[in-house]
This record gives sequence, structure tokens and C-alpha cells, in this order.
Amino acid sequence: MRTCPECGAEAVRIVYGMPGPQLLEEMKAGRIALGGCVVSEENPKWACKGPIQHRWGGKAAARDPA
Ligand SMILES: [Zn+2]
Repeated sequence: MRTCPECGAEAVRIVYGMPGPQLLEEMKAGRIALGGCVVSEENPKWACKGPIQHRWGGKAAARDPA
């Protein structure tokens, strides 16, 4: 499990683009976050499930080697 570097809460991957039925199910189950339809390499890759909902991991930040 990946955790937030800011607050230590559980983190989920952010999926961009138009979600299909399976992605919507995953989102409802709390396994992913939806990032909207604007796809960019600079978008963050990860979202934490803490109250502040940190986001990180975009190409510009270069903090996530994955
Ligand atoms: Zn956080």
C-alpha cells in the first residue's frame, strides 16, 4: 500500500480520462481516484485519502520514480 508523504494516509492512484463502468466501480470502492478528463504528464499520479487530499507524483514534481 502506498501512503501519503505529507500526512501518512492511504494513497490511491489517480486515473484520468473518461471513466468506464469498471473505473467507476473502482472509484466507489475507494481503490482509485478520478482526476478528470484533462490528461497531462504533469498531472499528479497519486491522491491521499486523508482530509486534505494531497496529490503528488506528476512529472514536474519528479518525486515518484514509478
Ligand atoms: Zn495526505
